[in-house]
Amino acid sequence: MSSFKAIVIRKGDSGQSVALTDFAEQDLMDGDVTFRVEWSTVNYKDGLAVTGKPPVVRRFPMIPGIDGAGTVTASSHPDWKPGDKVILNGWGCGETHLGMYGALARVKGDWLVPLPSDLSLRDAMAIGTAGYTAMLCVLALERHGLTPASGPIVVTGAAGGVGSVAIALLAKLGFTVIAATGRPQEADYFKGLGASEIIPRDELTGPVRPLGKERWAGGIDTAGSVPLANVLAMTRYGGAVSACGLAAGMDLPGSVAPFILRGVCLFGIDSVNCPRPRRREAWQRLARDLDRAKLSEITSEIDLAQIPNVAPQILGGNVRGRIVVKITE
Ligand code: NDP
Repeated sequence: MSSFKAIVIRKGDSGQSVALTDFAEQDLMDGDVTFRVEWSTVNYKDGLAVTGKPPVVRRFPMIPGIDGAGTVTASSHPDWKPGDKVILNGWGCGETHLGMYGALARVKGDWLVPLPSDLSLRDAMAIGTAGYTAMLCVLALERHGLTPASGPIVVTGAAGGVGSVAIALLAKLGFTVIAATGRPQEADYFKGLGASEIIPRDELTGPVRPLGKERWAGGIDTAGSVPLANVLAMTRYGGAVSACGLAAGMDLPGSVAPFILRGVCLFGIDSVNCPRPRRREAWQRLARDLDRAKLSEITSEIDLAQIPNVAPQILGGNVRGRIVVKITE
């Protein structure tokens, strides 16, 4: 393939432009594995990149897209050979390294994980960084020792990609799940995923007191800022919260009271540079613990040309669940 279709972000005198265009294979960046990208997805960070919100894209021209799944076409890396099915999440792709919204990608073999045998490439992208991050959050709570007997787990940004997968995973593992959302009218959606209780986002956006009523044993937070501070203040003695997002803001306007008076732990979750063994563990667990019927219920499909229209919608909190992108040459 001497050139391939890709979404390309360019920067010129009049600002940034985004277009579906042809991209020359010879302009791909260095890497020891080349693979045909067959499926990708739209994450919140992709929305930021495509709409030109700093600081995601740090190289131009850029092919955005932080997630891709496809088939190796060439490799000088010992772990990979042509025909292998691979998943890529993060590692700066779509930010500093050419990303996955194009039919061909060249990356470091060390960045790839094998597609678990019982997942399809499309399933892997329906999960995407959002779902893999949700699994990293669950793993952190498990390592802390939380079990279904510990008590309920609250999930903020429940209708988003991370939130939706987190609810489905926790429910399958037997946890009682409380969905905190700005869209309580989507009650049927949350119940379908396995949530037992739905609370309006407003309950977590009020003034932050050092300690509140102990409502849950743990949490998975995609919001940051006031909602995260309130989640912490309402976490039971000895509980834990996995924080991965900033949908409400980057700040954390709370107190240390939950940590020093209730022994609550706050786990920071990073998917981008997460070491390979933990990635593999997360993907194996996703293959085992994520209900495929629920995954397809929360997934919608678009093609490359639709990405520029969908990007503002995800930033506006108007996308429910996960979007997969079918990539054709
Ligand atoms: P989505 O856009 O799919 O979901 C975000 C959800 O957050 C929305 O659907 C909405 O859910 C809720 N939300 C939106 N605005 C606000 C607000 N002002 N206050 C509180 N909640 C709000 O994004 P993702 O699920 O893909 O990602 C969620 C977050 O996690 C993002 O901040 C993203 O950057 C971060 N992230 C971090 C990763 C990491 O490695 N640490 C990896 C992946 C994602 P509802 O309508 O139900 O309230």
